[in-house]
Amino acid sequence: MRFSENFIQEVVDRTDIEELIGRYVELKRQGANLWGRCPFHSEKTPSFSVSPVKRMFFCFGCHAGGSAITFVQKIENLDFPEAVEYLANRVGLPLPKESEAAYETRGVSRKRVLEMNLEAAKFFRACLFDERLGAEGMKYLHEDRGLSMATIKHFGLGFAPNSFQSLTDHMHRLGYTDEELVAACLCGKSQKTGRTYDYFRDRVMFPIIDTSGNVVAFGGRVMDDSKPKYLNSSDTPAFKKSRHLFALNFAKNHCAEKAILCEGYMDVIALHAAGFEYAVATLGTAITPDHARVFSKYTQKVVISYDSDDAGQNAANKAMRILGEVGMEVRVLKLSGAKDPDEYIKKFGSDKFRQVLEQSKTGFDHKSERILSKFDLTVGSEKIKATSEICALIAEYWSGVEREVYISQASNLLELPKEVLKNSVEQIRRKQKRAYDAKQSREAMASVKNFGDRINPEAAKDPRAVSAEETVLGLLLLKEEYRNAVEKGEIVLSEEDFVTDFHRRVFSSMMRMHRTDGGLRYELLGAEFTPDEMGRIEKTEIARQQLVQNGPEVLRSAAAVLRDARTKENMKNSSLNEKIAYLREKKAKLHKGKADKT
Ligand SMILES: [Zn+2]
Repeated sequence: MRFSENFIQEVVDRTDIEELIGRYVELKRQGANLWGRCPFHSEKTPSFSVSPVKRMFFCFGCHAGGSAITFVQKIENLDFPEAVEYLANRVGLPLPKESEAAYETRGVSRKRVLEMNLEAAKFFRACLFDERLGAEGMKYLHEDRGLSMATIKHFGLGFAPNSFQSLTDHMHRLGYTDEELVAACLCGKSQKTGRTYDYFRDRVMFPIIDTSGNVVAFGGRVMDDSKPKYLNSSDTPAFKKSRHLFALNFAKNHCAEKAILCEGYMDVIALHAAGFEYAVATLGTAITPDHARVFSKYTQKVVISYDSDDAGQNAANKAMRILGEVGMEVRVLKLSGAKDPDEYIKKFGSDKFRQVLEQSKTGFDHKSERILSKFDLTVGSEKIKATSEICALIAEYWSGVEREVYISQASNLLELPKEVLKNSVEQIRRKQKRAYDAKQSREAMASVKNFGDRINPEAAKDPRAVSAEETVLGLLLLKEEYRNAVEKGEIVLSEEDFVTDFHRRVFSSMMRMHRTDGGLRYELLGAEFTPDEMGRIEKTEIARQQLVQNGPEVLRSAAAVLRDARTKENMKNSSLNEKIAYLREKKAKLHKGKADKT
């Protein structure tokens, strides 16, 4: 482990978990715990809890859980030592010296990737402004796309020369190794020769900057029609394309009222240059729930401005749903006469764009228009189809008020009485609810049988033994006296008794820590288990805590089930003679029991 246990403990002790999580989640006190909407899955009613006393969090919906360190790992996408460092900086605790050296020898850190990215951004920019090297790139950005020098500088745009070695050589001179360059996705590595080469070549370069001002990744665009048109960094220790939004670093200060979501870098840059500094774009991927959650921290109202072709409109429908799920107000901008916002502003000017932006439609208007345009309402059979599609659309809305409003609108559009539409909508909702309930119970059944358990894949092997393992671990996590009893042999239980590898690991780590001076400290388990595993360990403890019967006899009988399971397992492998001997022994015990009673 990189940091000493004492140091980690100090960091956790100084961290106010309520204040930390409160920065990401709106928390309300209810009893001993605080509750809010989970930042790790989409939900409308709060099932995410924080216990300031235990200094833990747990989501009853998606079972994410753990310590303050686990929380930072998950939400900031950091590994365990990075999360400890993050919290240490936050509480103003200086890092121990020797661990900084250890840092360099472990894999490539986020910090190192950020340093490399900054150097690469400087290099790309210098190339663009070099009269010889960057001429082609500058012509494309400045002349062909019409970006001003101020805009090019503002976004830190650059140029990657048409060479396999120019960035690689430059970074080598600065002391970065091949391994580091590949980890940062600045270089690729040839399968054949094993040599590294520049990942981005002959492209104009867009640095992706996070809201703290770090260059986290790059997007590169070709200047002709060759493919791929855009090349983006893959995920690195500093970048996750499912989370980062292009230009959010600028937009975050301008988007309190509303934001514009576009498809590409060029749209965003054109919009910013035209005074719409609240535009952002995803990076070579459709919008994800992670994006939506990040975005919703900065704005509540989003206007989606995707390309006007079918692909763009389908993507807009999906984005509407994802953004709506985190409670954002979503509108859709449909541009006519141009394929994207960049072209629209060039053709019609920014005042005209501002006008159509004001007239952007709500998600419902946009979708119902698309439905109505497909049908001829003067033909009975087509009107029926249109009505059923519109009712299905209204049924998707979670809020009863919204459904009422849209039923009124639909009643006007279709010239049908409100009551008829309302009945139809409610019927669809009842049907959906039944389907949803059935799915829930199927999932519950599957989880009872432990099939498809990612965290403990062996759980389906022996459901009875696995449930005994959970009981045993839950009780041992809950009570120190039980751990003492196992340690002293008063309750007979050892590593070999565990059927599944995951539970065996939890048991041995827990008992090893129990034997140290500091005792079992939940936070420290995070060094050996992934955030998902930490959630499972927390779930095991909470599930046990919620039961009334938590006495030592429960632990004893669960431990007995495990020993029995192991004996059966051994029986399968033993020779016939041993089996006979075992049965004799059992029989003798049985007789003895009878004899005792008489
Ligand atoms: Zn959750």
